[in-house]
Amino acid sequence: MAKLVVLGAGAMGLAAAHQALKEGHDTTVVEADKQAGGMAAHFDFGGVSLERFYHFVCKADAPTFALMQDLGIADRMRWVPTRMGYFIGGRLHPWGDPISLLKLPELSLFQKLRYALMAFVSTKRSDCSKLEELSAREWLEGWVGRSAYEKMWEPLFRLKFFELADDISAAWIWTRIKRVGTSRRSMFQEELGYIDGGSETLVHALVAAVEGAGGTLRLGEPAAEVVVKNGAVSEVRLASGESLPCEAVISTVPTPFVPQLVPALSEAWKEKYRAIRNIPVVCVVVKLGQPVSENFWVNICDPEIEVPGIIEFSNLRPFPEPIVYVPYYMPASHPKWQWSDEQFIAEVIGYLKRLNPKLRDDDVLATKVGRLRYAQPVCEPGFAAKIPPVQTPISGLQIADTCFYYPEDRGIAESVRLGAEMALRVGAAPQ
Ligand SMILES: Cc1cc2nc3c(=O)[nH]c(=O)nc-3n(C[C@H](O)[C@H](O)[C@H](O)COP(=O)(O)OP(=O)(O)OC[C@H]3O[C@@H](n4cnc5c(N)ncnc54)[C@H](O)[C@@H]3O)c2cc1C
Repeated sequence: MAKLVVLGAGAMGLAAAHQALKEGHDTTVVEADKQAGGMAAHFDFGGVSLERFYHFVCKADAPTFALMQDLGIADRMRWVPTRMGYFIGGRLHPWGDPISLLKLPELSLFQKLRYALMAFVSTKRSDCSKLEELSAREWLEGWVGRSAYEKMWEPLFRLKFFELADDISAAWIWTRIKRVGTSRRSMFQEELGYIDGGSETLVHALVAAVEGAGGTLRLGEPAAEVVVKNGAVSEVRLASGESLPCEAVISTVPTPFVPQLVPALSEAWKEKYRAIRNIPVVCVVVKLGQPVSENFWVNICDPEIEVPGIIEFSNLRPFPEPIVYVPYYMPASHPKWQWSDEQFIAEVIGYLKRLNPKLRDDDVLATKVGRLRYAQPVCEPGFAAKIPPVQTPISGLQIADTCFYYPEDRGIAESVRLGAEMALRVGAAPQ
């Protein structure tokens, strides 16, 4: 049994603490934020508890289902037949099934056949080792051709990754296509899930399980330093100055924070974390008087709309009024990262009106802007070889964040899986 401190009370940190307590470790979780949940946390949106960032579940998210079973909340999973749209050529088209693809005026029949083959093979493929050194652009162009890539994919990548758009791993995009592509009721019907009450239901159940098993949660208490003595972790110093003596630390905070948090790491090791690129997101949430469309997700390829898509969350999880998320991903060097909330809101309302010209200003019932500096790891070709081992050279110190389960994209299922795995390694010799 070890004295363990977990850094971060997001899905990964809470799942790690939950498992560590089962293994008998004396466990404390320290979290910088005043609430648990990290990216999966909620906020009060005019009396409705809502995710800061939209969360949908796919049928491939097995670790989430296993955890919900374990926590006694498996009955809170809901599945909904959902629709996708594509706003391209100034019009909103249905998307996400063979008939919609056939009807899309933007592609030739030959391009459509190539596109369909790519989507089909992607859902059947199970090994991505051959994709590891390829960029998403090279791989997708190989399947659908340059012209279809430039129409359908390039704008989406450019509006998420900007100057990094051509430096995205094919393996990473393939796992995304596969995760959503296999979440279906049939070839013609996508089916996505949500947790009744939102991701907060899972977060609250984890917090209750951790506290119920004797673990301690220290919210609003950022860790300032992992102190190392004789090559092993000895304590976690909080920003308040308090010290938590320990024999093991699991860090789940975004890796850009790690070099500062663990000064005892060698420069060469710190460099591995610094080399991982991570872009911010600004997520505008809007409550409306009428829906934008019937789609859960709308991809957007339009020269006058500078976001790659919108998520009409209320078309998945029911709410009294339509709720739309409009995420702006961008490198921190992008001028919009400095924009005020009002600038984002004004632009978003203009975009929503373009998507649905019936929307009027008085349909905008409430807005909220969420910002996250380290929101999306940018995984370039060959990224697998760049991920440092979870076990650091410091005895007792494991470090991971959402890019450590690459090629899977950031997601609750993979965070809880990796968190539990790290907990199983606590105290394992040699550390
Ligand atoms: C816009 C957006 C949409 C998403 N959509 C989905 C979706 O549809 N489905 C899905 O499954 N996933 C989705 N995700 C991803 C999912 O939310 C994450 O993969 C998951 O919540 C990550 O959990 P984590 O614990 O690994 O990391 P985090 O949630 O980032 O947790 C890290 C924690 O560390 C804390 N911390 C930072 N510094 C310190 C410090 N010094 N001391 C103590 N604590 C510290 C942070 O406050 C944070 O709580 C989305 C994410 C975003 C941003």
